[in-house]
Amino acid sequence: MGRKAIIAANWKMHKTQHDALQFVQKLNYLLRPADFERVEIPICGPFTVLRTLQTVFDADKLHFRLGAQDVFWEEKGAYTGAISGPMLAALAVDFVIVGHSERRAIFGDTDKTVRKKIETVFKNGMTPIMCCGETEAEREAGETAAKVTRQVQAGVAGLSAEQVGQMVIAYEPIWAIGTGKTATPEDAQETCGLIRKVVAAAAGDTAAAALRVQYGGSVKPGNVEMIMAQPDIDGALVGGASLDPKDFSMILTGW
Ligand code: PGA
Repeated sequence: MGRKAIIAANWKMHKTQHDALQFVQKLNYLLRPADFERVEIPICGPFTVLRTLQTVFDADKLHFRLGAQDVFWEEKGAYTGAISGPMLAALAVDFVIVGHSERRAIFGDTDKTVRKKIETVFKNGMTPIMCCGETEAEREAGETAAKVTRQVQAGVAGLSAEQVGQMVIAYEPIWAIGTGKTATPEDAQETCGLIRKVVAAAAGDTAAAALRVQYGGSVKPGNVEMIMAQPDIDGALVGGASLDPKDFSMILTGW
């Protein structure tokens, strides 16, 4: 198939510069060069640690990829508190998480603004990790497929097939995030397979075959193997268990 696995750390609002530095040095010590060949490892820290991570990746020749957790779509201007695409690109950021359910629920991101952010990420030479997923109530009401289809269609609308093929889409059932509850590997596969079908319909089979799909939501050392064994799952987006280098190294190598 040729899709390289991608397991990303989403630190959310955790870690100072000092913590970040210690973490990557410890994690690197726990991994072997072959691990980096097998899986791409974006570390998505808060904006305040990106410069520190960039410097240590560079100086110590670490093979992690650098990730941010959000971006604003305007390039510059009177937008207090916002961070632009060119600012991230200047720090050699590779990946940007866009439309995480916490951004949608707490900070007002919508399908429309998520789409604008994806455009910004591409325009600045970076790769979006677009999140989608249903709430517990939506799952119980049988609305999972409809919700995820709508989010994915909105996210890829108007992009070139080449861009869509470069994207990462993370399926994160909201009820599984930070709760210790995980989707069964079969349920995760079903929705990740659906995402690939929706992308095929929107952007063609080549884009769908190249697209990398992650599962996220309480991924841990004990469940990563079953998740990674699913044919349409190419990786994971890991929150809580990415904060500890030992746990995260076991996720990176435990499949
Ligand atoms: P979790 O978070 O691993 O703590 O469930 C995943 C995410 O929100 O990306």
